[in-house]
Amino acid sequence: MQDIFRFDRFGRGWLLLGAAALMAWPAFHSIPARASAAETAQPDPARQLRWYKGNTHTHTLNSDGDSTPDDVVRWYREHGYQFLVLTDHNFLTSVDALNALHGASERFLVIKGEEVTSSFKTASIHVNGLDVAERVEPARDAASVVDTLQRNVDAIRKVDGIPHINHPNFGWSITPDDLRQVRNNRLFEIYNGHPTVHNDGGGGVPSLEQAWDMILSQGVLLYGIAVDDAHVFKDPGNPAVAGPGRGWIVVRSDRLEARALLAAVERGDFYASTGVELVDVQSTGTSMTVQIRRRGDFKYRIQFIGKGGQLLKEDIELSATYTFTGSEGYVRAKVLDSGGHAAWVQPVFVN
Ligand SMILES: [Zn+2]
Ligand SMILES: [Zn+2]
Repeated sequence: MQDIFRFDRFGRGWLLLGAAALMAWPAFHSIPARASAAETAQPDPARQLRWYKGNTHTHTLNSDGDSTPDDVVRWYREHGYQFLVLTDHNFLTSVDALNALHGASERFLVIKGEEVTSSFKTASIHVNGLDVAERVEPARDAASVVDTLQRNVDAIRKVDGIPHINHPNFGWSITPDDLRQVRNNRLFEIYNGHPTVHNDGGGGVPSLEQAWDMILSQGVLLYGIAVDDAHVFKDPGNPAVAGPGRGWIVVRSDRLEARALLAAVERGDFYASTGVELVDVQSTGTSMTVQIRRRGDFKYRIQFIGKGGQLLKEDIELSATYTFTGSEGYVRAKVLDSGGHAAWVQPVFVN
């Protein structure tokens, strides 16, 4: 079976596969124009794809968290996650001993990371580096918010890490226009579980979801991730502190391995969630299908959203398909449940 790449006008590569591989690999949709180290780790069509739940933003005693890396890893291992990235502020925690203790083939994996933490004037500029080969020195004395972001993103890429831009509305620091201008970055936090990061915007500042639609509407592809940004493990259930278990991603990969998982994330082959579980997501060149795993007697709405944040279609079944007309600009999906939780399915550009 031969794989063939085709590039569309957005510079995305579409991998064309034979029918057999396509059935085993249903939702592959896009590759960023610039291939990073992670993106070269393509899934092996002979291996079955699985969904892996993980959190990519977590603190320990190595910065301002309240618990040891061992306790933090233990929490996620015991709460149904398959992977965790430790991301202390400007500190790279070794994960070898943690994996020796808690790691298990296809069951649990700790990935190293760092929250590269810097500022510009009063703006807090935090960029996570996932699976960085070494500690990244945060940018100082940059010329602007965008320059600070760009230098940190570049420094993370230089050590083979995968960047994601954190909590843009924290300290009202990063505008949609700033985010849009950063190059070589594919990910930002659409949801962060810390109680003071203003996911919903306010006072004239757009919510992160509105920001996402503004950026996508200008033809810039960003994928939205949900994270805990957990700092506090010793005060369970207190919504006023940054506790664990609030936001996560579920990634489709052929194996539980850092490069494979992160390559899938950078391709947009994942969904973000604050509590909604999906059975499957399929984005083809002509349609997007979302299937929900129902929890108890919860009820759901599936929304398909296009350019300008326009609601293209809403469905109340457990599975829905939206067929592209070709004029949407992009299509993404959001699932809302009757308990106030959500899942975000990644956008695809439609042309
Ligand atoms: Zn932060
Ligand atoms: Zn953080």
